[in-house]
Amino acid sequence: MSAAAPNSSAFEYQTADCWEEAIKLRALWGEGAKLIAGGQSLVPMINLRLAMPAALIDLNPIVSSGPWLDQGELVIPAMTRHRAVLDSPLVATHFPMLAKAVGLVGNVRVRNRGTIGGSVSHADPTGEIPCVVLAAGGRIVVQGPSGMRSVPADDFFLTYLTTATDLDEVVTEIRLPVAGDQDGWGFDEVTRRFSDFATVEVAVSARSRASEEIPELRVVLGGVADRPLLLGEDILEPFRRLGADPQAIDEVAQNAANSISPESDVHASADYRRRLTQVLTRRSLAQAVGLG
Ligand SMILES: Cc1cc2nc3c(=O)[nH]c(=O)nc-3n(C[C@H](O)[C@H](O)[C@H](O)COP(=O)(O)OP(=O)(O)OC[C@H]3O[C@@H](n4cnc5c(N)ncnc54)[C@H](O)[C@@H]3O)c2cc1C
Repeated sequence: MSAAAPNSSAFEYQTADCWEEAIKLRALWGEGAKLIAGGQSLVPMINLRLAMPAALIDLNPIVSSGPWLDQGELVIPAMTRHRAVLDSPLVATHFPMLAKAVGLVGNVRVRNRGTIGGSVSHADPTGEIPCVVLAAGGRIVVQGPSGMRSVPADDFFLTYLTTATDLDEVVTEIRLPVAGDQDGWGFDEVTRRFSDFATVEVAVSARSRASEEIPELRVVLGGVADRPLLLGEDILEPFRRLGADPQAIDEVAQNAANSISPESDVHASADYRRRLTQVLTRRSLAQAVGLG
């Protein structure tokens, strides 16, 4: 095994057939190593020389048993393909928002190869899956040389393509609190062309609370900042004041648009992103609280 020369695009290739092996190989190769799952984000980055790993550690031999339920959580192993999420009756029943969002990821080729662990690890601020995991108040389970830890989604997405995972850790599972019969959700996005990343997207979860008339809302915006953005209580205040009614929805949507400072780029101007945020927040909220 020899390290590739500096600035060379050549890399070593190693396979891991379990997480422990992946962690060992990661430690062996240090900073120069990259894990590869579906390769749908990493391979384009390597092709463009935006990533030049000294070694690729292939996670594909790791067998994934598909989503299951565990004490009120839907557990999705990191190597679960987007296609398997879409085909899962458990996801359709207990987390329809995830099913809708995953159906909007890329195209059928991307969904056949891409994995949920790859999507949360890649942490693209326009990615559908990070938005939904954050809106759900999910947890990301990571494993490293010193054991396993569970990171709340609120603390996981730090900035562009950066998560709270340490260099020597791997993501092994995503855990989402199962939605109840009375809970609502809404997800909407705008893309410029079929298969594009979203220009802006909004994910809303509305959890009913026995003691209160107003559901607990978690509203997440994607494509408007360096990470998926969870709206704060101040922005959702109209719901506390007015209850779940159309005026509250309008006010929250306006607050959301006023609260962001999106960038202008080749895909959309900042003003257009703000306008999309207002429209999509209104639609997703209305759907989540049953007024859509
Ligand atoms: C044409 C095209 C369109 C696309 N459209 C969309 C879209 O609309 N929405 C969207 O969200 N995505 C889109 N994608 C990206 C796609 O969803 C990827 O599948 C996803 O972002 C990454 O998953 P992956 O399994 O392919 O990860 P990889 O590309 O293999 O890895 C991505 C990153 O995550 C790291 N990684 C992977 N697995 C783990 C793990 N278990 N633990 C720690 N780190 C890990 C890798 O080291 C790498 O840094 C698109 C891709 C293409 C090519």
